[in-house]
Amino acid sequence: MTFQQKYRYLFGPVRSRRLGLSLGIDTVPNKTCTFNCVYCQLGRTTYQTILREEYVPANDVMTELADFLEYDGRADYVTFSGSGEPTLHRKLGEMIVRAKRLTNIPVAVLTCSALMYDAQVRHELAQADMILPSLDAASPRTFYAVNRPHGRLYLAEIINGLRQFRAEFSGKIWLEIMLVKGVNDDEEEIALLRRAIAEIQPDKVHLNTVVRPPAEDEAQALSDDELRAVQAKLGPPAEVIAERWTAPRLSLDSRLISEAVNLIARHPMTLEEISHYMNCKPEIIALMLKGLTDSGEVEARTHRGQVFYVALAEENAGAAAGVAAAWPASSAVAKLADEDLEP
Ligand code: SF4
Repeated sequence: MTFQQKYRYLFGPVRSRRLGLSLGIDTVPNKTCTFNCVYCQLGRTTYQTILREEYVPANDVMTELADFLEYDGRADYVTFSGSGEPTLHRKLGEMIVRAKRLTNIPVAVLTCSALMYDAQVRHELAQADMILPSLDAASPRTFYAVNRPHGRLYLAEIINGLRQFRAEFSGKIWLEIMLVKGVNDDEEEIALLRRAIAEIQPDKVHLNTVVRPPAEDEAQALSDDELRAVQAKLGPPAEVIAERWTAPRLSLDSRLISEAVNLIARHPMTLEEISHYMNCKPEIIALMLKGLTDSGEVEARTHRGQVFYVALAEENAGAAAGVAAAWPASSAVAKLADEDLEP
């Protein structure tokens, strides 16, 4: 049974540049959100609201998390995020507290900041270890253009809420700004954002751009040079985190890629074995492996006439190097490795 078949509200763990190996928790149905951002990689918002509800049963979410922690548990962060705005779940605070009782893995929340004006939401978020809020605009005109918010949301209240949250929360705040060419990257907007950042005082500011297919085709990415220019204007602690999306991935589910990389981070596997373990057609796995080997995240190694795939990227580099060193040092090691591959 694949991860996706086993869990309804958990996803990943996904390889996140900011959080390492991040176990995602999805607390709202797809595209239930306060915003309808032009750059949203999930498409247009289908249910735009500011009403906090128990959109998915909190007990079921916690049961899944407990199961994951018991049977796998490998993650650097447990992250409330997913396919909409997590603070819309009215039991978010309770779920954060329960998650922290279940594990020592730090708990993070990704939020678009829309409900930061609400003291109750800020109180609930303050139960987490790290908050990753977004702020894409500092003028109302740009706010409406880039985030297309629910009609009862006001930018000044959101920025004020972020400022108050900084005073109330002792954990880390990593603010993300998604830059869209010609929409929120002009001199005036960047100067206003710089002023807002000075008020909010986040620990880090991450600059991103439209590297994945957006909700609206006209939402275009900034070039690397343009991103660096914005970084220079904002000054420290701004840093660029945008990662280019490579063509072979466009036709594949990112969760599938993540699951495959996780799988071969633990054991080198043949294409057929990956296909078998993931219950996925060999042609799809072959396409995915081509993209991953082209991008340098996975290496193909021939051993005893068979091609094995090994994950090499970032967090797995150490483990993969260990595998590389031992593989195939001797026939005994190779035999052990083969036995490890048995289901
Ligand atoms: S806040 Fe996030 S989920 Fe909502 S529309 Fe914007 S990018 Fe999409």
